[in-house]
Amino acid sequence: MSVAASRPICLVTGGSAGIGAATARLAARDGYDVALTYNSDRAGADATADAVGAAGGEAALFKADLSDPDTVEPLFQSLDARWGRLDALVNNAGIVDMACGIDGLTAARITRMLTINTTAAMLVAQQAVLRMRAGTAGGAIVNVSSKAAVIGGANMYLDYAASKGALDTFTRGLALEEAARGIRVNAVRPGVIATAIHGKGGVPDRASAMGPDLPMRRAGRPEEVAEAIVWLLSSKASYVTGAILDVAGGR
Ligand code: NAP
Repeated sequence: MSVAASRPICLVTGGSAGIGAATARLAARDGYDVALTYNSDRAGADATADAVGAAGGEAALFKADLSDPDTVEPLFQSLDARWGRLDALVNNAGIVDMACGIDGLTAARITRMLTINTTAAMLVAQQAVLRMRAGTAGGAIVNVSSKAAVIGGANMYLDYAASKGALDTFTRGLALEEAARGIRVNAVRPGVIATAIHGKGGVPDRASAMGPDLPMRRAGRPEEVAEAIVWLLSSKASYVTGAILDVAGGR
């Protein structure tokens, strides 16, 4: 049986690290209870849950490997069992792969990239929308895209950039579908942000190395992206939908 929630519920995918962990903390600060998904980093998810608790929120952890689209429905069934409602979604989980040009791409790599960054994000949004429609207060979704969607990821992440370009287009379309139902759908496009994702792409010092060449002469911090996300979720952004907000320090 689900527990009646007194605070709004925010689901953050990929809440075990980086931008997702920062967003979970700030969502709790702003009055949400937070459902977090993680894949491999249980310790990171536990640390985020502790931070959510310290910020006054209740946290629930769900393991979900989003490289398998079949994990999405069971994830939401677990969420239903825990809280029985959903008010906000941050579609944040995402991957890069080893930096390469077009010569390095394979069907397996492209499929994995698109499955986690695009297919799973769409399916998670679908399940969230179904629950938000069933509630009385609408809802808000923020998709975490990337400035790479505009820049193109040449010689590094062509497939990653394309996966985020698709997410931008999906953001716009879903926003229009749900606007009259009071469900707002927006995206943020982070620039170079200092998280562990760069190491997973084989360039651990990418953010610090690129910093001096960026317009603001530094990489961004996860909290700077998270502040934009929680603003888009909030009633302060009540007339914002279909928007894609660059949080890229001018990049
Ligand atoms: P991060 O520190 O590497 O965190 C990525 C998160 O995604 C982790 O919580 C990870 O979970 C989760 N994840 C990865 N693979 C998954 C899978 N198969 N199934 C479920 N969850 C999975 O990266 P980040 O920099 O915070 O990135 C967060 C989002 O911001 C991503 O969508 C990324 O594309 C976007 N972004 C980042 C930057 C940047 O410069 N950092 C720039 C633009 C956009 P586990 O660790 O538990 O496996």
